[in-house]
Amino acid sequence: MGKYTFKFDENLYSIDISNCLDYENIKNNLPLGLTHEEIIHLLKQQKNIEFDVSYYDQACQNCLNGVAEKSKYFKFLEYYFYAFTKNNKYVMSNISEEYANTSFNKMLKNRIVDNSYIISIIVCIKCGKYSIEIEECEC
Ligand SMILES: [Zn+2]
Repeated sequence: MGKYTFKFDENLYSIDISNCLDYENIKNNLPLGLTHEEIIHLLKQQKNIEFDVSYYDQACQNCLNGVAEKSKYFKFLEYYFYAFTKNNKYVMSNISEEYANTSFNKMLKNRIVDNSYIISIIVCIKCGKYSIEIEECEC
C-alpha cells in the first residue's frame, strides 16, 4: 500500500490507509475503479498540491480536538479534486495526466463520461487521521 505525505506548519501528515477513518464506508461510496490506492497515485503525481485549512462544524471523530474547549468550528486540512465517471465507473480525474488534453465538457459531449464527483480528503490538523467525502456534482 502506497502513501502520500505532506508538510503543513512543520507537521508531517500521511495519507495512508492506516490513518483513514471509516475506510469500509468510503470504499463502498467511491465510484467503481477509484480505489484508495488510485487516490494516492493521483496525489503523488501532482507537483504542487496544497491542502488548505478548512473549518467544519463537526469535530474529528478520532481525537475530538476542540470539543473540550467547546469550539464551534473544528480545524482540518482539505484537498479536493473531481472524479469523472461513466455508468458509475471511474474514468479519470481533473488531476490525471490524461486530463491535460481534454476537458469535462468535451468528454461529456463525446459520451466518454456521464457524471462527476467531488472527492475531498479531509485531514484532522491535530491527529492526522482523515476521511474522504464523495459528493455527486450537478451537471
Ligand atoms: Zn483528530
